[in-house]
Amino acid sequence: MLDESKDILRIEELRAVLRENSRRYYVDNNPMISDFEYDSLMRELEDLEALHPELATPDSPTRKVGSDLETQGFGENAESGIRMDFVQRPHRYPMLSLANTYSISEIEEFAARADKTLGKGFTYCLELKFDGTAICLTYKNGELYRALTRGDGVQGDDVTRNVRMIPNIPLKLRGDFPSDLEIRGEILMPYKDFERLNAEREEAGEIPFANPRNAASGSLKLMDPTQVAHRGLYCTLYHIPAQSVTFSTHDEALKSAAGWGLPVSDNRKICTGITGIKEYIDYWDKERRFLPYATDGIVIKINELEAQRTLGYTSKSPRWAVAFKFKAEQACTRLNSIDYQVGRTGAVTPVANLEPVLLSGTVVKRATLNNEDQMALLDIRVGDYVFVEKGGEIIPKITGVDFSRRTQGLASPVFPTVCPDCGTALIRKEGEAKSFCPNTYSCPQQIKGRILNFMSRKAMNIIGGKSLVDQLVNKGLVKSPADLYYLSKYELLSLEGWKERSAERFLASLQESKQAGFERVLFALGIPFVGETTARTLARHFKSIDRLISAERPELEEVSDVGPVIAPSVIEFLGMESHRDEIERLRAFGLRFEISQESGLLSNALEGKTIVISGNFSVSREQIKELIGQHGGKNSGSVSAKTSFLLAGEKPGPEKLKKCAQLQIPVLDEAAFRAMLPDLGGIAGQARNDAGAVHSVIEPTLF
Ligand code: NAD
Repeated sequence: MLDESKDILRIEELRAVLRENSRRYYVDNNPMISDFEYDSLMRELEDLEALHPELATPDSPTRKVGSDLETQGFGENAESGIRMDFVQRPHRYPMLSLANTYSISEIEEFAARADKTLGKGFTYCLELKFDGTAICLTYKNGELYRALTRGDGVQGDDVTRNVRMIPNIPLKLRGDFPSDLEIRGEILMPYKDFERLNAEREEAGEIPFANPRNAASGSLKLMDPTQVAHRGLYCTLYHIPAQSVTFSTHDEALKSAAGWGLPVSDNRKICTGITGIKEYIDYWDKERRFLPYATDGIVIKINELEAQRTLGYTSKSPRWAVAFKFKAEQACTRLNSIDYQVGRTGAVTPVANLEPVLLSGTVVKRATLNNEDQMALLDIRVGDYVFVEKGGEIIPKITGVDFSRRTQGLASPVFPTVCPDCGTALIRKEGEAKSFCPNTYSCPQQIKGRILNFMSRKAMNIIGGKSLVDQLVNKGLVKSPADLYYLSKYELLSLEGWKERSAERFLASLQESKQAGFERVLFALGIPFVGETTARTLARHFKSIDRLISAERPELEEVSDVGPVIAPSVIEFLGMESHRDEIERLRAFGLRFEISQESGLLSNALEGKTIVISGNFSVSREQIKELIGQHGGKNSGSVSAKTSFLLAGEKPGPEKLKKCAQLQIPVLDEAAFRAMLPDLGGIAGQARNDAGAVHSVIEPTLF
């Protein structure tokens, strides 16, 4: 019984962690953990669900492919910070993932199962597993017609305009091509283009991409196709859905595709059994280092299409294929020093400063050491030569020490006993790996972390970043998020480098943040385990902070996705007097702590209207969407006959405008839209755009 409740907790925790990381990986292009860690967590969840089949749910991450769709959550193009609303279109055939493993013995099991089910006489087609972002191309009468991302496997984002800019994707096929062809593959960014792009970004003071995969995926979703043309993207194709064209083998289909002028890799190989598979793995584990682009494994596919049909699919992947993933690449370099960083929750993390080393296409200078136990386990010392790994994640990890190169007299590092920031004695709870600074409300580093989280784009969306927060906290002007709203222009002008204009912009941004919906305010509070999605679900369910504060555990657990991890965390957080005081102070400044009095609506002005938005507005797209919901309207991602009107900001998508013109759907600008809403004294009724005084309904034919 005890074990069962432990498993229930763990299942819930794993699902939440996997969903959050999946969004960071696919939508934000900003992963926080390594692929290996992600895969290990997924495996743990699979094992637990197998142990408790009654707890399996159809929407569990074990059953669904990770989604890159831009409309989920508050996803933003990590690169531009601008939300892209691509038109979403259904896939003709589902676009699935691949079962994967890091273990040769599981490949042996796969081959043994195939032998058992298929008998003799089938072959394997072995291919490289290209580490980019999946794409589905459709050619009609030999012309490139459409390109969709994998999306959630059922529908994908239409990135045709961008894909047309990728030099090795032919716009026209040659030879004896089928009139309607669907073919799938990967968009990659070669290392040399990745390095060039990152060098340019660093020079421009922008954050570099973590790896070529993220760079490829981010580039594919750029707003401006001409920029895509300069990114050096490269495509390789590896799959024609069996139903689309009739061939007897997968290899034959790819050979034909190459004949039609499509880019297909020559590095595949046909073999008959496990020996051939192992040889291919051994060969490419070494040789892949000389390829111009990233690969993260090999894919083993049953070659005969009839045999593929016999084996079929799970809800997530084909049963006729499996990926063997290579362990992350390693580099060896010198450990120069160790910093101890305090996070917003007070957790202290040791971070290694390394002699810069090139690893998987990027220069690595810092790596995490996780915690004190990990340091002891590695027996690491400053001056050691250490092995560093980077498996697709931003923060590389130290995985070992080269003891053969250790020089005499190196001392073991001593983990601090007091907070490196505020000097308070650290505590380490039983069973926990991390040490914490308990000085929650006065430790400057924790204060800064909380304020940065509160100001972040997905929370209150207040302009300004780390250097501003450092100054505000160091000068003692701000100790908690609510203090931000007390700041005067005079105080802001006392900050280094601040002028009249920047101070005014910041104050305006603070004012504007007060319009953020309750969902975002709740997320901004930083309740442990309550990410954006959970905050939204909780806000919509309870409708006000007061109802949420008074909710008891069973009521909380009734909410979907809230279980025995999140519920106690919410109760503990909201039960603390200091947090309640902070909420009251924020409320007094006019922040929204309820969705609305009764119905969750501010008005019915948009009732029955399905509204598509496109372009940039005077406020963020999130705020516009919130507004639509608050006034009873429905926001939809793509224009169809059911669309009531397109709300077009600056630079709306030409595809959407064209569709509106075709379907005779009205296009409204922001001022016209705002004029439809009752003046409630806030964002709802305000036309912030100077040009907004003249509102208009734009004729679709004008575009
Ligand atoms: P995947 O990348 O493991 O494998 C499936 C994909 O491989 C296909 O969709 C296709 O795009 C690609 N592929 C490359 N070469 C191919 C070939 N020759 N034939 C067929 N397909 C080929 O699976 P996924 O569903 O895209 O992603 C899941 C993986 O992504 C996880 O296993 C994990 O490693 C990683 N991930 C990591 C994080 C993180 O936070 N680090 C989060 C989510 C997912």
